[in-house]
Amino acid sequence: MRILIFSDIHANLAALEAVLSAAGDVDAAWCLGDLVGYGPNPNECIERVRALPNLLCVLGNHDAAALGYIELSAFNYEAQLSVLWTQNHLTRSSELFLRNLPDKLQNGDVTLAHGSPRNPVWEYLLDLQTADINFDYFETRLCFVGHTHLPIVFYRPSPMTNEVNWKTVYDGEVIRISGRAILNPGSVGQPRDHNPMAAYMIFHPEDSSCEFFRVSYNVTDVQERIYEAGLPLRHAVRLSEGW
Ligand code: ZN
Repeated sequence: MRILIFSDIHANLAALEAVLSAAGDVDAAWCLGDLVGYGPNPNECIERVRALPNLLCVLGNHDAAALGYIELSAFNYEAQLSVLWTQNHLTRSSELFLRNLPDKLQNGDVTLAHGSPRNPVWEYLLDLQTADINFDYFETRLCFVGHTHLPIVFYRPSPMTNEVNWKTVYDGEVIRISGRAILNPGSVGQPRDHNPMAAYMIFHPEDSSCEFFRVSYNVTDVQERIYEAGLPLRHAVRLSEGW
């Protein structure tokens, strides 16, 4: 069984199309939130995602902001402009789709959340201490998160200890999880690990293995769309460098 795990599309349709095409046929698609924000094609990305087979999807902080659930002041100035632009461009159908998303989901052996299991919409898992605490906030063996836009695995090497380790992952790497772990596939539409290629993961539940991938797409085309849409230039510039 092949399950596509992807996150942080950020209205970048070209990156999303590249990921879907590279992933090929999948049995299910699990999206970890932030379908919108920063990029120029929020409605097209939502339409594409909602048509995927056996879709599970959780709400991200930019999705929540587009719905007015989060105060604008929680974002920096350019992100605020992006939230306002998205609010003005979302169709009624896109808005309804986002409104129906849960902030956390459990499916079999896996919990899905955008930020973290403790604070699904907002918390960033960027260090071992925060990850360690979060292992107490989900009951399944695995948890998939997004939000930091960094492909990474936090894991407990042995069930006998409370030790937590982490590992950044590279394109094509396969990780087989034997204990408990929190995994982040990276970002489709705005990678921040200094690699501009779109990131995604394929999960095989039979043996708990996760394959991490990167795929290139036409960044220049998306940058031009961002300029034309009148969105902040910073969100175009950063796509070339992956930050
Ligand atoms: Zn994001």
